[in-house]
Amino acid sequence: MPLSEFELIQRFFSPTGCCREDVLLGVGDDCALLQIPSGENLAVSIDTLVEGVHFHPDVDPELLGHKALAVNLSDLAAMGAVPAWATLALTLPRSDSAWLASFMSGFFTLADRHQVQLVGGDTTRGPLTISVQVHGFVPPGKALTRHTARAGDRIGVTGTLGDAGLALQQMAAVKPTSRYLRERLERPLPRLETGLALRGLANAAIDISDGLLADLGHICRRSGVGARLELQRLPLSVEVAEHVKKSGEWSLPLTAGDDYELCFSVPPARCQQAEAALGSLDGGLTWIGLIEQEPGVRCFGQDGCRIETGTGGYQHFQSAD
Ligand code: ADP
Ligand code: MG
Repeated sequence: MPLSEFELIQRFFSPTGCCREDVLLGVGDDCALLQIPSGENLAVSIDTLVEGVHFHPDVDPELLGHKALAVNLSDLAAMGAVPAWATLALTLPRSDSAWLASFMSGFFTLADRHQVQLVGGDTTRGPLTISVQVHGFVPPGKALTRHTARAGDRIGVTGTLGDAGLALQQMAAVKPTSRYLRERLERPLPRLETGLALRGLANAAIDISDGLLADLGHICRRSGVGARLELQRLPLSVEVAEHVKKSGEWSLPLTAGDDYELCFSVPPARCQQAEAALGSLDGGLTWIGLIEQEPGVRCFGQDGCRIETGTGGYQHFQSAD
C-alpha cells in the first residue's frame, strides 16, 4: 500500500545521517531552528531539477538523489563556503517507496560525506520536480564572488571540461559511453575543497554548470572585464580530446553544460600559491587564459590565431520565449 505524506516524511526524511550541533531542531516541526556560528556569513543557494528538462524519466533515482545535492554543493564550492544544512522540496507523481529509498540513499551518501544535515523540506504530489536548498558558512569578506575579477588575473579551472556533454551526446545517439564519461555526467563531485583553498587567493570564481564560455562570461560581465582563452590549454579527457580532434571544433569543452568544475581568476602574485594549494586536491588546477580589460571572451588556437566560437550555454528561456 502506498505510504501517506506523513509516513513518507517519517520513513525517508527524518534524521538518519549526520547530526550537527548547530541544528537545534531539524525535520519534524513547522520550521528548523539553526545556529549560525559567530563570525560567519550564511551562504544560501537553491537549484531545481525538473523531469524531462534536467534528467530523463528513467534515470536511476540513486544517481538523481546524488546529483540534486551535488549541483547545489557546487554553488557553495564556487563561493568558497563550507556546507552545513540542506532543505529538500520534492514533488512526486506517486508515493513510490522503492524509488524514494533509492533517491534518498544517493542524497544522504553525498550529504554525509560533507557533513551536511537535511533539516527540512516539503513533499507534494505532481510532476516529478526536485528542489534542494543548501546553506553554508563563509567568514565575512572571504566569499569568492563573480564581480571581482581584475585585468591581469590568470584564469584557472579544475578537472576536465566537456565530459558530461560528450556522455549526453553519446547516450542521445544510443552509442556506447565509457564508464568514466557516464560517471562525470551522473555523479558530479562538487569541488568543495578547492573552493575553500581558493579563499584569499582567487579574485573571482564561478562553477561551470552552463559551459565555460557562458560561465566565464558571467564573471567578465559582472566584473566589467573580458578574457582571453588559449584553447590548446583546456584540460580535456582522452575522449573529449579525441572528439575535438576528429570534429575540428571546440563546442563540447566550451559550451556543453553539467561540468560542475570551478573557474576562477587569480592575480599573478598569488598564482604560485594557488598552484601549491590546489596541486594535491582532486581536480588540480589548469591555467587556461587571462583576464583582460576589453569586454568579451576571445578564444585563440595553437598558432595564436583567433578562433570564432558561439557563446553557447544552456538557457531555459530564449529571448523569443
Ligand atoms: P507543514 O505542513 O507545517 O509545512 P509538513 O507536513 O510539510 O509541514 O512537513 C512536516 C515536517 O517534515 C517539516 O519539518 C518539514 O520540514 C519536513 N519535511 C517534509 N517534506 C520533507 C522533505 N522532502 N525532506 C525533508 N524534510 C521534509
Ligand atoms: Mg508542507
